[in-house]
Formats: sequence, structure tokens, C-alpha cells
Amino acid sequence: MPAPLLYETHMHTPLCRHADGLPGEYAARAAQRGLKGIIVTCHSPMPNGFSAPVRMRPEQFDEYLALIAAAEREWRGRVEVLPGLESDYFPGMERWLEQLHARAPFHYILGSVHPHIREYLDQYFRGNWPEFHRQYYRDLAAAAETGLFDSLAHPDIVKNQGAEYWDVPALLPDIRRALDRIAKTGVAMELNTSGLLKTIKEMNPAPAIIREIQQRGIPMTVGADAHEPSRVADHYEEALTLLQECGFASVSVFLHRQRREIPIADALASLRR
Ligand SMILES: [Zn+2]
Ligand SMILES: [Zn+2]
Repeated sequence: MPAPLLYETHMHTPLCRHADGLPGEYAARAAQRGLKGIIVTCHSPMPNGFSAPVRMRPEQFDEYLALIAAAEREWRGRVEVLPGLESDYFPGMERWLEQLHARAPFHYILGSVHPHIREYLDQYFRGNWPEFHRQYYRDLAAAAETGLFDSLAHPDIVKNQGAEYWDVPALLPDIRRALDRIAKTGVAMELNTSGLLKTIKEMNPAPAIIREIQQRGIPMTVGADAHEPSRVADHYEEALTLLQECGFASVSVFLHRQRREIPIADALASLRR
């Protein structure tokens, strides 16, 4: 049996107020799937009640770290359980995030533009969905340029809003401009399999965008965005095969916030059903 190689790199706990799994439960599923470890990535606490319904409060941050540490002890020697974070990029929050990221030895920090939260809609939505989609890509590039993040989460999630106006060919010039900016930063981008459960039922991002990412030499990570343990490594086989079809030979994982490459053929061989 091949040795475990992969990690589940995107998951949420009940501290996010909309997820069911505990780190130890995610680790148990990771063991079944042949994973080497999991990186827990709850939504970053934010100041002043920003997007409060879907995240821990700032004073719960130590509880979050303790939850991960307890599972790490329980699973030591079997499945690595590592601290990460899914941090919201929003203009003006850079200093907050910089200080937050320094508070623990994180292995991996996802940067997310979440266009469905109220604060983002209030700031940017003016009744024009195509313009909203373009704004999202400007913000995604700006997120990469902060240097705060290792990988950009679900980088076309905006397609589920104004989905009837989502038009990749029409948006390609804007996507390409954003990807050119992202490529210069060295930040990776995530192929997120939870898109299969959303309004437009395909992974985030779409294959046409993955090809543009690949052409610019931007590395890609894979995550299921699990909100319950059964989704650990969900559709990883399809995701890795899609990356291969789009020209990738390896998939990226961050440990100690350093990127390492895993050959996709080896990654596929290491998974168990
Ligand atoms: Zn997210
Ligand atoms: Zn998430």
C-alpha cells in the first residue's frame, strides 16, 4: 500500500457556527481516505462584528487553537492535525489579519474573498452582476498582493451570485488581468471541490480558469471545504485528474507556510476509498 501523501487542507468546525465536524472526527475520516494529515481552517475572527454569523468571536481564538491541539495529541503518529486559517480579505482589514496570523504557528493560511457576505455586498453590489463579477477578480488580485496568504480559496465562488450572468468568455480579460497580478506574487490558488454542491455545480474554479492559472505557472492546492467529516477529501480523485487534464504534473501543499509539490500520479495512488 502506498504511503499517505495528501492532506485535507480546508475544513470548518462548529466554531464557525455553520459546520458540524470536530478536528478528531475529520482526522478519523482522513485516516480512512489514506491522507497524511488535515489542516483545520476555520474562518478568521474579525473585529467589530464583521461577518459575525459565520465565524468565531475574537475571544474564542484560544479555544480554536486548543481544539486543534487536543486532536493533534489524540491522533499523533497516525494523522497529522495542523492549525490553519481561512482569512477573509477585505480592504482595511490587512493590519488585523497580519497580527492574527502572528498569534500561532499556522501551517497554512487561505485567503478568501467572500462576495456573499453582507459587508461585501453593501460595499460593492450596485445592481450589476457582471460588474460585481469583475470587482471580485480585482479583489482577488489585491488579496494576493497583500502577502498575507498562502493560497486563494475557491477562486470563482462569485459565480454563484448572479449565476445567470456568469459568463467566463466575457469575463476572461478581467480574469487574465487578475491572474497576471497573482502570478507575480507567488501565491497559490485552490481547487475547491465543494463547488459541486453550490448553485453552479462545478468545482471552483472552472476548468477554463484552471488552464489560465496553469499557463501562468501559478501553483494549485486542493481542498474539499468540508463542513462535516464525511466530506474529507471529497472528490479528490476527480480534482487531481482535472488538474492533470489542465496541464499540472503536481499539486501543492503548504506545511509551516512553505509550499511543497506532490506529483499528481503519486497523490492519486495514495488515496483510499
Ligand atoms: Zn470560503
Ligand atoms: Zn471554507
